[in-house]
Amino acid sequence: MALALTVYIVAHTVSGEMQDPNGFERAVERLRTAQIQRVVLESYRGGLSVDEAIMVKARDQFKTAGFETMGGLMPVWGEGFGKRGEGVETHLPFFCYSSEETVSAIEGEIRKLARLFDDVVIDDALMTSCRCDTCDRARGDKEWPEFRQELLCGATRRWVRAAHEENPNAKLIVKFPQTYDRYHVYGYDTAHFPEIFDGVWVGSESRDPETVAFGYTEQYQGYFNIRWMRACAGPKFEAAWYDYLDCNDTLFYLQAVTTALGRPDRTVMFCYGDNLFSDNRVQRVTEGLPGLERLWQAAEHPRGVFVLKPPNSDGSGDLFIYDDFGMLGIPCVPTTQLSPDMRSVIVPAQGFADRKTGGAIKEIIRSGGQVIVTHAALQRITDQPDLLALFGYRPQGVHPVRTRISGIELDGKVNKLEQPFHVPGDLAPEKEATIAARAKYGEFMGSRYVPLVTVMTHPSGGKAIVWNIGAFGHDAYNIEESLCVPVRSEIPQLPAPVVNLLRNMAIEPLGFSLSAPARVACFLFEKKAVFVNYRAEPADIVTNGLGLDLSSLYAAAEGTAADSERSIRLAPHSFAMVGMN
Ligand SMILES: [Zn+2]
Repeated sequence: MALALTVYIVAHTVSGEMQDPNGFERAVERLRTAQIQRVVLESYRGGLSVDEAIMVKARDQFKTAGFETMGGLMPVWGEGFGKRGEGVETHLPFFCYSSEETVSAIEGEIRKLARLFDDVVIDDALMTSCRCDTCDRARGDKEWPEFRQELLCGATRRWVRAAHEENPNAKLIVKFPQTYDRYHVYGYDTAHFPEIFDGVWVGSESRDPETVAFGYTEQYQGYFNIRWMRACAGPKFEAAWYDYLDCNDTLFYLQAVTTALGRPDRTVMFCYGDNLFSDNRVQRVTEGLPGLERLWQAAEHPRGVFVLKPPNSDGSGDLFIYDDFGMLGIPCVPTTQLSPDMRSVIVPAQGFADRKTGGAIKEIIRSGGQVIVTHAALQRITDQPDLLALFGYRPQGVHPVRTRISGIELDGKVNKLEQPFHVPGDLAPEKEATIAARAKYGEFMGSRYVPLVTVMTHPSGGKAIVWNIGAFGHDAYNIEESLCVPVRSEIPQLPAPVVNLLRNMAIEPLGFSLSAPARVACFLFEKKAVFVNYRAEPADIVTNGLGLDLSSLYAAAEGTAADSERSIRLAPHSFAMVGMN
């Protein structure tokens, strides 16, 4: 099976339920039924450190039962283990890594695991918000994020050496959380961790996008996370992981679909227990494995619109906007840098963290390509007048002023909004630029308008486009620090004609068009196109120019079918895969 499945077993279960023969037998039965190949046995979590002898016993039992095994640990503070972080930023139980007590205690766990296993993964709380006096003195003039990244790079280099000392075959793996636009804030380093560690995993969980419980995460995020982390880590990227939290069986299955499209070598489910194996969650994925396998097999060589996020880039007011691009139906290809041969790219604020981005944009446009920037991205280049001019602006024509709008005018017709929508700023384009859509605001002294989309067409045929859209900033997080997306995105709630306009603008250089509601995602691979309907309602999609061979349509759900030569009706919460001529 290409979609190799792993289940993570936390320290409390390893030292509790797995030590009971009945508990162990039940686990073996469940894991075999679910076609699980490997288990992660965790030795530390929140103050509980499992004795080496118990770890050996658990490892040998699972090996004898036919499972591959590996080790894991979760670096969250608990009584009697390391030093808890201090300060006002979050109240989560992260460690202080300026403390030798913390670094050596975790090193001890890593040494223990490396003696027992060839693969050891550090779960996704390897972050710190500590502001203790020692940390504050050590950071000197640096900002907290930069200091924390350096601190954690130092500790993790030491741990990797320790793991290799214990076992020359040991691989120490870092699992990044799903929170890609917040990594750097608490010390996760996407530029250096892939060099330091022997392997890289990432979270692809999305859970319920309608609830704040674990964030209003749009489900496309799982795909972005996998593809972007692969762009950061290269061949060291191995696995993606999702969990049962805040999921019914349908949402759990959709996580599996999204993850399979990222084509990780391994898929990890968190975590073993009644919650994972109840309410048809794992069962639904097991039943769906033939379809998931087909998705995984097809998901080679993604193509589409390049979306730029350099390693460790800050997103200003565009946090997690890549999830929205995907939910608009744009087939996104995450990239960490631009190259001049790219024909269609989207650059949100994150993109200008790389100083080479401006030059690459000029080259792309000069050679006939298309570049779309957001308002927050445009603000970041107001100190580069020549680059700004390519988009049809002067510095004084760009201003951040978040404004609620009441409608969007396209082709002379105003589309009313069913959900609130805010534009991030005001824009005054030069006369050479075309306003392709404008947003209506205010009733006082009559309706007024602010540009929503502007286009500068260059003699090369290249286009420089501005989308006056945005997401949210770091100030949207409160003291409870949910880590995941704290606000419901407005972008996928835009009226259908606006969704179609934005998507078709982005994909025009690829030579096709697509009409579909928001929250229907489009994935393009070497020989197949895949459409995923994340909505609870059916979705009709119509394509032009994609060369779909609808006789090859494969769908895992009833109710999905080709209607005509170019249109497909997608059942709720389902996917369709189609070959391309
Ligand atoms: Zn500290």
